[in-house]
Formats: sequence, structure tokens, C-alpha cells
Amino acid sequence: MAEYLASIYGTEKDKVNCSFYFKIGACRHGDRCSRKHVKPTFSQTILLSNLYQNPAHDPTCTLSADQLQEHFDRFYEDIFVELAKYGEIEEMCVCDNVGDHLVGNVYCQYRYEENAGEAVEELNKRFYAGRLIN
Ligand SMILES: [Zn+2]
Repeated sequence: MAEYLASIYGTEKDKVNCSFYFKIGACRHGDRCSRKHVKPTFSQTILLSNLYQNPAHDPTCTLSADQLQEHFDRFYEDIFVELAKYGEIEEMCVCDNVGDHLVGNVYCQYRYEENAGEAVEELNKRFYAGRLIN
């Protein structure tokens, strides 16, 4: 039984732990989710919630596609340089999904778990563009 539970842990068959939260650290049900949101104590990957504010999601936005791309590139470079201070980055990804729990999420995978830990520790005290990093 324990073995079975371990094998389905964090998958959609797991009725206790939320599979979305387990996989992507975010869930559209937020705190009202019927399943448990377990924060990993250690991970190579860190999540910076809702960090990228895509101007295209603002209904009054008048930027062209090129300008939007430039806006994004500048953000990506900015964050990448900042995150690279804590260690070697394997992969960094910015979500452009239009769900409140996903929009602007930045996922960054470090080569070493310790670096991810340090980054979280430091970044939790910081702001980006006036918004507290979480
Ligand atoms: Zn959930």
C-alpha cells in the first residue's frame, strides 16, 4: 500500500496531494483547493510567482508585436542576469498562460540544489518593478 501511494504521489490519481501544485508549484484553486499543496523543502527549480507583467494583457496596451517582444527580451535578460548570480542555470522559463495562478510565473532550474536554496533565500527579500518577489 505504501509503495502504491508513493508511486502515485503528486499524480492525478493522488486524491490527497494536488498534482498541479506538485508539478508546477501553482494551482488555479489556490488556498481553496480540496487537495493538499505541499511545498518542496528542496528543489533545483525555483518559482517566482506572477513576476512578468506582460503589457499585452492590459486592454489599453498600444505596443506593437516588436515592442512587446523587446519588452519581454529585456525582462528575460534582466531576470536571467539576476538569477545567474546565485549559480549556474540549466533552464529558465517564463509562463505566458492567462490564468491568474500562472501568468508571469518564472521557473528557473539550477544545476545545483544549494544554489536554488540560496536564490530563494535572497530573493524573498527583494522587489522587482515595485512588486515583492515571492
Ligand atoms: Zn491544488
